[in-house]
Amino acid sequence: MTDTHAHLDFLEEAELEEAQAHFSELKAILTLGVDPSRWERTLALAQGNVYAAVGLHPTSAHLLSPEVEEALKHHARHPRVRAIGESGLDYHWTPETRPAQLRALEFQAGLAEALGLPLVLHVRSKDGKAEEDLAAWLLSHRPKRVVLHAFAGHPALEAAGLRLEAYFSFAGPLTYRKNQALREAARRLPLDKLLVETDAPFLPPEPHRGKRNLPHLVRHTLAKLAEVRGMALEEMESITDQNAETCFRWT
Ligand SMILES: [Zn+2]
Repeated sequence: MTDTHAHLDFLEEAELEEAQAHFSELKAILTLGVDPSRWERTLALAQGNVYAAVGLHPTSAHLLSPEVEEALKHHARHPRVRAIGESGLDYHWTPETRPAQLRALEFQAGLAEALGLPLVLHVRSKDGKAEEDLAAWLLSHRPKRVVLHAFAGHPALEAAGLRLEAYFSFAGPLTYRKNQALREAARRLPLDKLLVETDAPFLPPEPHRGKRNLPHLVRHTLAKLAEVRGMALEEMESITDQNAETCFRWT
């Protein structure tokens, strides 16, 4: 199985040791460094079956400057980097930086395109406005390879993602009892565009809710996705591993 989205640099020492004890259960793990203070640590963690993404999270988009752009371009050329991000729009935590978020998104989309890497996108808002804006942005900019990280089922984003042949990455919330609509989306999306992730240490799947999340717990989300599609876990594991390989080109 593959964890296409984790933040290993957010783990405490003991948590990282526990995570590493399970790394052999995973085909690959993508760890994302989300602001300039985290890029070097993220790249240092990218060894063995761990690969890296570097980018500027929308809640850190205000940090974008010519120096930060240069540093991001530099780190993005590291041999273990397989994606740019996570970028995107977040009006939940930082609605006031919307213009900076859009500039950071454009910059990261350009960098991903120049390097032939996928662009990993985050989106969050209370009222769906960030999702609508991101859907509109996707349809006007048409980036080539996009991952909708922790896809939460917003209809406009689903439609835009389908038009762009984006990857839809499912995290722990797929397993939450109330998220029936999200499971329906997971049932109808193209099989060759499905990914699974943890967003560790966040978004723990059932039955680990309320605790910190680790990459190997992606198994619970994978099992739920298999159940939703009426498949054996091993079959869904091989499909999502292949999709991740096609998207991120690990080797
Ligand atoms: Zn993340």
